[in-house]
Amino acid sequence: MRKNIVAGNWKMNTVLEEGVELANNVNSLLEGKTVNCDVIVCVPFTHLTSVNAVLNPECVALGAENCSEHAKGAYTGEVSASMVKSTGARYVILGHSERRQYFGENNEQLLAKTKIALENGLLPIFCVGEVLEQREDGSYNDVVKAQVEALFSLSAEDFGKIVIAYEPVWAIGTGKTATAEQAQEMHAHIRGVIAEKYGKEVADNTSILYGGSCKPGNAREIFAKPDVDGGLIGGAALKAEDFMGIIEAFN
Ligand code: PEP
Repeated sequence: MRKNIVAGNWKMNTVLEEGVELANNVNSLLEGKTVNCDVIVCVPFTHLTSVNAVLNPECVALGAENCSEHAKGAYTGEVSASMVKSTGARYVILGHSERRQYFGENNEQLLAKTKIALENGLLPIFCVGEVLEQREDGSYNDVVKAQVEALFSLSAEDFGKIVIAYEPVWAIGTGKTATAEQAQEMHAHIRGVIAEKYGKEVADNTSILYGGSCKPGNAREIFAKPDVDGGLIGGAALKAEDFMGIIEAFN
């Protein structure tokens, strides 16, 4: 069956020392506690090795926030999936709306990144979500369907390794959260799209996370919905206590 997951996305925040301290704090809050979800922290490339050294892998898994679509070579400034994997990371966020919006990442590139991540043993957290205009003009279901379908050349076995994160762009970092009902409606839609292509079993086993201004105060209501399997957390993942509060929404 699918897993409940709470994953932090630190984005471009914290210098190394602060990042290690934050990871240490998350780790200590989790050690010895029973929680009802898997916990992941996705951190800047520069922090991966040092954060890996302080995390107890039985409590917290490590992820990166991106990787290159190329395997290796003359791509100055890029970081490959094999490099990410070599730090001890298990996950990689792909297709975050900030990557799509500010760095022009398109479906073709994101499919290539997903494939190379999987080839290197990384588990993608693949982000989808509509912008405000698409929410308002009613095209949001089609937009998100097309983003999920970008991965449909993957085998069922490979698709089964992917975590989907539904993040309405209008809710990211804005303090505006989708209602639990809006999240449920979209998550059920995504699961239906997956079921049409890969069948009910793959769809039922896919963890679909909600992201967008999720906080300790609203996580419980959102996570209680049947098709919401946890959250991808930005701002609230930068404070260990807030992140813990969201993890405890599953208790
Ligand atoms: C994100 O960027 O993945 C995110 C969900 O951000 P926030 O929680 O800050 O809205």
